[in-house]
Amino acid sequence: MLYAQVVLPLAQPAYTFSVEEVLDVRVGDAVVVQFGNSRFYTGIVWSISDQRPDYPRIKPILRRLYSVPLLTPPIQQLWEWIADYYMCSLGEVMRMALPSLAKPSATTLADLDEKSITPPVETYIALCSDLRSEEALAEYVAKHSRRAPRRTDTMDRIAALAVERSADDGFVPRRLVDADYRHIADLRSKGLIECVVRERERTLRDAAQEFLLPTLSEAQDVALESVRSAHSDGRVALLHGVTGSGKTEIYVHLIADVLASGRDVLMLVPEIVVTSQLVERLERIFEGRTTTYHSHLTPTRRGQTYLRLAAASGGELVVGVRSAMFLPLNNLGLVIVDEEHDPSYKQSDVQPRYNARDCAVVMARIFGAGVVLGSATPSLESYTKALAGRYAYVELKERWGEGELPEVVVSDTLRAVKRGERRSHFNLDLLHYVADSLEAKEQVMLFQNRRGYAPYIQCRTCGYTPRCPHCNVTLTQHKSSATMQCHYCGFSVERPKVCPVCNIQDFATMGFGTEKVEEEIQRLYPDARVARLDGDTASSERAFRQIVTRFEEGATDILVGTQIITKGFDFGGVTTVGILNADNLLSAPDFRASERAFQLMMQVAGRAGRRNNRGRVVVQTSQPTHPVIRQVSAGDYHAMALAELREREQFGYPPYSRLVRLLLRCSDYELLHAASHYMAQLLRKKFAHRVIGPASAAVGMLRGEHRSEILLKIEAGASMSLARKMLREVMESMTSEKRFKSVVLNVDVDAL
Ligand code: ADP
Ligand code: ZN
Repeated sequence: MLYAQVVLPLAQPAYTFSVEEVLDVRVGDAVVVQFGNSRFYTGIVWSISDQRPDYPRIKPILRRLYSVPLLTPPIQQLWEWIADYYMCSLGEVMRMALPSLAKPSATTLADLDEKSITPPVETYIALCSDLRSEEALAEYVAKHSRRAPRRTDTMDRIAALAVERSADDGFVPRRLVDADYRHIADLRSKGLIECVVRERERTLRDAAQEFLLPTLSEAQDVALESVRSAHSDGRVALLHGVTGSGKTEIYVHLIADVLASGRDVLMLVPEIVVTSQLVERLERIFEGRTTTYHSHLTPTRRGQTYLRLAAASGGELVVGVRSAMFLPLNNLGLVIVDEEHDPSYKQSDVQPRYNARDCAVVMARIFGAGVVLGSATPSLESYTKALAGRYAYVELKERWGEGELPEVVVSDTLRAVKRGERRSHFNLDLLHYVADSLEAKEQVMLFQNRRGYAPYIQCRTCGYTPRCPHCNVTLTQHKSSATMQCHYCGFSVERPKVCPVCNIQDFATMGFGTEKVEEEIQRLYPDARVARLDGDTASSERAFRQIVTRFEEGATDILVGTQIITKGFDFGGVTTVGILNADNLLSAPDFRASERAFQLMMQVAGRAGRRNNRGRVVVQTSQPTHPVIRQVSAGDYHAMALAELREREQFGYPPYSRLVRLLLRCSDYELLHAASHYMAQLLRKKFAHRVIGPASAAVGMLRGEHRSEILLKIEAGASMSLARKMLREVMESMTSEKRFKSVVLNVDVDAL
């Protein structure tokens, strides 16, 4: 009899089960086991041995799922690293990594079947059998092309595709035929074509496939060679290239190298819908090898993708968001992390609270793969590693071709108000440029980092502000729905007419969000076509694409938006970009505020003047002399980095330390208070001055739970594994305190 250590999707260690030989269970296989009295779980076989552990009763593995193991040893190694580093169980990593393949648990065995995963299908079309020969078709076309040219065109196209794709049976994917459904249905009813639904075939690929690669500029060529030589030395390359410098073109060459050698490429991007332009470019070049992976996919699709990759033999390109790093690329040769500074690489809400950029570096080391971290504004973490020589630093200082970086105009809001040069939320400086752009039939983007109409409303008489009853935050007014919403929990109420405290009807709207910007700019330019892109209007991928496509086609003149518009877009027609309120970026209560403000503003600025005509960026601020504003207008990343690093060093913030955030949650405030003080005390015994807090978390109450926070600052150079060990001991003593049973503790290593 054999015994398997099985990882279950729980916050618990692996358990041992016995293995019947007939099941043919291998390490990495998904299996179904019974655990507890009445529940069945999907688990992953972590290891197998012939030693019977000395438990009295060992339950058997009930069945094996899927014909391929879901994990290979290098990926097991990665999971182990993640569990150890981010302080969670392998089961929690499993829950994250296999979202749809391994339904965690069920009360009946049948519910855990694998049958829900079927390969993707699509419609294929062929000419009817008596028209499949070249002569027969030619004869038919000659006879009908005068009277029914559209019909014969389509039939020609089908025949041509069949030849092009060497489809022996004549069937080609319907989506390539480029004809609407009515037309196809018509041909079918006339008996001219046949349709079948069948498994989508992956494009045939031969090893010698030639990719159509862009020709690089001299500067790009130099950068590409530097990245290659970093990789041959086994070093991570930090590619620091200004917006529009053509980092993508460099990636494309690196990807082609690796795919041609039969290995896989993982390319991480912050958000997939936002990068649709990039994905399309890659799909065009690497047709048939590109797989995209993001949160809009259905669970079935994700499962299909996982299984297909687990069985694939190499030469795959995956482009995806952070969770794509859990896909089973078993021949990994290259990892690219685009916009590596982007905070969305860090998962903060559930365990594992991993940073995909950092995991990617570890994963590449396990596989012996190359890494490129690309950004126009690298994170200070990566930048210091480059300064210290641990990463190879590759810089692209200029835009590709004729493109010039935009001019930055700093517009003083206070002065504008004093001089009467402000209309609603816009300084005249900005409005002049907007008018210029509109007149020249060019486009405008306006950035405001809050969605909704107004961040909050306030009673002018007593100062009352409606707040979320479940979260300690103000409610945001949404005009289009006449409601006030909590942006943390989604709670929504009708906007009050009178103040519930003083019964007077005198609310003032404070601040402004994208919805209000849209309304006001439309009022100022009634003829302009204005659209808005934010979490409200782009709630689905489809809605998002619609807005973007219209802007791309020039059907929209002014696009108002949040962060979403800052990422990766490549629109040719934008000449004016407005940052409506830089102050709330600069004054965010976060030690990373300056870095983030700089990154965001540079990213927004990067949308302007990407082709030919030079663009300008108007930054509205009441602090025109703020160092970050100066660094943005000079486009001086290095100045920002050096100033910031000096300050971080002085206060011992990352990258000079690592932060571990301990979040304690409980609906009972007194108990939470007691628990967090008790824990802080235990921590101080071990970590001394490295413990900060406890303090109320930034959002002190969320969904009805009180939250308090303790911060650990472990200086760079100290042993993180020792720190984790000591922290685990404290966590164990907390668990053993029965009185704190209802207090939940979350650990966030390298918290942002
Ligand atoms: P980045 O990602 O660095 O902001 P992109 O890779 O998006 O820059 O390039 C900016 C623009 O310049 C794109 O429209 C791209 O097609 C064009 N471009 C850059 N390099 C080349 C090249 N070598 N050949 C053709 N077009 C290029
Ligand atoms: Zn709320």
